[in-house]
Amino acid sequence: MERIAECHCGQLRAITSGEPESVYVCHCKACQRRTGAIIHNGSRWLKSQVRIEGEHKIYSRKGDSGSEIRFHFCPNCGSSVFWEGDRSPTTCGIAVGCFADPSFPAPTSSGYEESMHPWLGLPPDTAHFPQVYPGRAGIAIVAVPTVAD
Ligand SMILES: [Zn+2]
Ligand SMILES: [Zn+2]
Repeated sequence: MERIAECHCGQLRAITSGEPESVYVCHCKACQRRTGAIIHNGSRWLKSQVRIEGEHKIYSRKGDSGSEIRFHFCPNCGSSVFWEGDRSPTTCGIAVGCFADPSFPAPTSSGYEESMHPWLGLPPDTAHFPQVYPGRAGIAIVAVPTVAD
């Protein structure tokens, strides 16, 4: 199925085909500041599933693994719509919020819960990770999942 993620003003779009490889949430402080939200909801796709339309600028930073992650944002309204990094050349991430679609699949893993806002609830089947988790493109598992209580 085709889905369209777009920025706040609508000029930058990511058009996807098929289903995402994974859907996850991240509670890390960098994601909180980047999105302005208390939680980041990401989806991982093969680049071959994604078509980009519109102008975008890049903010690049090193992830915890030390490799570069590039966030592509709209130069007009500033929304970060998608990202990709050196660790995983074949995949990219798209912000689930940019799809603005309540029927989008729920996250199955939750990373960086060490900085999670304590009042937040997650779906019952979510895998929990205190730090890095396998759903994030190109980043190795360094934390063992904790059992939800
Ligand atoms: Zn925009
Ligand atoms: Zn994060």
